[in-house]
Amino acid sequence: MRSIGLIGGMSWESSAEYYRILNEGVRDALGPTASARCLLWSFDFSEIEKLQHDGQWDALGEKLADAAQKLEAAGADLLLICTNTMHKLAGAVEAAVSIPLLHIADPTAEAIRAQGLTKVGLLGTAFTMEQDFYKGRLTERYGLDVIVPKDEDRATVHRIIYQELVAGQVLDASREAYRAVIARLVERGAQAIILGCTEIMLLVGPDDSAVPVFDTTALHAGAAVQAALG
Ligand code: GLU
Repeated sequence: MRSIGLIGGMSWESSAEYYRILNEGVRDALGPTASARCLLWSFDFSEIEKLQHDGQWDALGEKLADAAQKLEAAGADLLLICTNTMHKLAGAVEAAVSIPLLHIADPTAEAIRAQGLTKVGLLGTAFTMEQDFYKGRLTERYGLDVIVPKDEDRATVHRIIYQELVAGQVLDASREAYRAVIARLVERGAQAIILGCTEIMLLVGPDDSAVPVFDTTALHAGAAVQAALG
């Protein structure tokens, strides 16, 4: 089994889910007492989110590259960045190490394509929904037609992530708000919904959507299990 290096703590609420899913995946594959070989670098998210909102992406790239090098030096055979947003800096991480980075968009897009779906609604932080680093990969590499919520809905989705989910608050009113946003994406033709922020799975799931949902946390961690065991 190869060792999985996790660049996490963004937030720890979702890193805990990664840890659980990796261990469950290895147990299911190898037997009841088997568990994942993994290393976690866990950032203080308060520092990260301040730099994000100040637009200090170069500084963030240096932090992620440094974490990646530490994980490689500690014995990681492959890396995961446990957040969709910070894949904006995937290139900085890849350039800093010689072990592979499993990009979160890839297993997500592959799962969508495997179901024959092409038009997807994307939920995530404003960075993920509005910039091209994520949507571009889905479109250019996988031919997906990606739509995002309208302005006000994007603000709601972003606010709930940063004010509630990363702080471990899972509120019924926010679940209702997400359901309404999802319904509006479906009305606009979305055949699937990408939960494109690793905390969203704490709030909504398949029961909150009329079309299939693709949880990036589970898909990314699942792909890491395959890579570690393959
Ligand atoms: N975990 C989130 C994501 O998947 C948001 C936190 C962050 O900005 O990294 O995008």
